[in-house]
Amino acid sequence: MQAVSEMMQPAWRCVPQALRNMPALAELLAFARDPADALARAFCAALARFHCYAGTLTPPLGASSEEFRAALDYFLPGVLARFTLGDAAAGPVPGSEFDADEYHDLLALLEDHRADTSPETKWLARIIAMCCMGEHHLWEDMGLAHRGELSLLIAGGFPALAAKNTNDMRWKKFFYKQLCDREGLNLCRAPICTECVDYAKCFGPETPDTAAWSRRESP
Ligand code: SF4
Repeated sequence: MQAVSEMMQPAWRCVPQALRNMPALAELLAFARDPADALARAFCAALARFHCYAGTLTPPLGASSEEFRAALDYFLPGVLARFTLGDAAAGPVPGSEFDADEYHDLLALLEDHRADTSPETKWLARIIAMCCMGEHHLWEDMGLAHRGELSLLIAGGFPALAAKNTNDMRWKKFFYKQLCDREGLNLCRAPICTECVDYAKCFGPETPDTAAWSRRESP
């Protein structure tokens, strides 16, 4: 018998190796209205990790049940025939490494830079803020095929913020650096990046082979 993931091409082909052990992601992707849509894949990846358990999908922090149901209908029509809609107060998967304070800080940063007031940019902000809690490169934790897909989403959804990343810093590092700047904090280990021992962590290539870095390392 074919595995669910094998039957639902092409979405699964785009999923990075780092997330291929997530059965919930395969199940959610099977409902995608447009499997080629990077935002839909990222929506599935964020839900699979943080808001899908015991056959229930729970609304991300800050989203009402009605808003979440509308997003499910839009991105994953029919998914509520397979999963139950959970309560908005349920929160992320128990035991997951989800830091609500960090999530809200990241969300505020992104929402302040939305290109428009569309549901797409609202959900993209939530998805990015959620997936920053992952342990891989951000593009991997968002279930995207490569960093270029993430850069396109950020440039489209938050152009003013993307324009600040003039030296092409890794996106997750860039967002946390922006939060530090907002708070007037300087956690850097050198006055300028080119003299910093952490240069490779902030600006190194984001290939799957170098994915084992953590957001909890120094910024
Ligand atoms: S390379 Fe060093 S100085 Fe530059 S942002 Fe990263 S930690 Fe800060």
